[in-house]
Amino acid sequence: MGQQAPPPRPPRGAIIDPFGRRIHYVRLSVTDRCNFRCVYCMPEEGIEFTERSELMTFEEIERLGRVLSEMGVDRIRLTGGEPTVRKDILELVGRLGALPLLRDLSMTTNGWNLAKIGPALKKAGLTRLNISIDTLDREHFIALARVDRLDDVLAGIEAVVALDWLPLKLNVVVCEGMNELEVTSFVERFAHLPVTIRFIEYMPFGESRFNLVPWSHTRARLEARYELQPVQGPQGSGPANYWAVAGTKVVVGAIGALSRQFCEACNRVRITSDGRLKNCLAYEPEMVSVRDVMRAGGSDDDLELAIRAGIMRKPIAHITGEDGSNPFEGTMIQIGG
Ligand code: SAM
Ligand code: SF4
Repeated sequence: MGQQAPPPRPPRGAIIDPFGRRIHYVRLSVTDRCNFRCVYCMPEEGIEFTERSELMTFEEIERLGRVLSEMGVDRIRLTGGEPTVRKDILELVGRLGALPLLRDLSMTTNGWNLAKIGPALKKAGLTRLNISIDTLDREHFIALARVDRLDDVLAGIEAVVALDWLPLKLNVVVCEGMNELEVTSFVERFAHLPVTIRFIEYMPFGESRFNLVPWSHTRARLEARYELQPVQGPQGSGPANYWAVAGTKVVVGAIGALSRQFCEACNRVRITSDGRLKNCLAYEPEMVSVRDVMRAGGSDDDLELAIRAGIMRKPIAHITGEDGSNPFEGTMIQIGG
């Protein structure tokens, strides 16, 4: 077999923040709307969604994705809200999937219609999926997501497995009094599959208030039943955050956003569905609007300058809330999880 050609060199300079961190990963929210109402994420009603005219158009998203990739961004994750409720999402995936400098185009989804659109998403160029599923129990699902769609999500996971679209990541937000006793059920259910199950500590966004279940508790529950062996996690994350579950194909991961351990190596920024550049998950009052630069007729060079200006505001680490304040402003659907 001949040697593979090296990927083309990005034509614009890399994005380096004021603390020398190179940004090459962007989480892009395509909508703040969702067909679920997870208790930790959204209120049941009374949500003021972004006006459709304020959302970035597909042309704007594609152009932004291209300029970012020319600046060395090689990974984009589509998120929301629920990205698959955005009309014609397949078209958007196709447009971004065709960007030659992008190495990885992934999506975080609640999985509700993957049984239907999974094959088309893969064909359109989506490389990887994260599926959020907090419980395997129907009653708990209805209580947590406030919709009766557990079977659809499980069918979506099966469809992804049938497509051999593996490894797959599952996101489980662990909430006290809801699903914290179920953590071993996830391992049991997916033991035969190369699945990474990431147990996420609840973050106190917006109005929702739960007591956080620390990873140490989740880990103790897992270790009461399984042997955990530290492994190197995906994308260069430290070995202490991922463990292979002995006797299964499953890897479990711990995601604790309140800890600042990831800030030093932070390589990412977020773009909200209305095109504002958000440097840090926690607390950022003023965000640069890259959408406005495009709508004002700015050139690609203007867009590059706006992105660089935005990145210059990236803080060294997020505020932890140790002083009692809540560093998590807004909601996950505005930020793009
Ligand atoms: N709708 C998609 C989904 O649920 O996968 C994508 C958007 S969602 C905001 C992205 C991720 O954020 C999900 O895995 C969700 O569980 C997580 N999330 C939302 N609110 C959270 C919170 N308050 N604390 C921790 N994780 C949260
Ligand atoms: Fe929707 Fe995802 Fe938020 Fe649940 S976590 S309400 S699925 S955006």
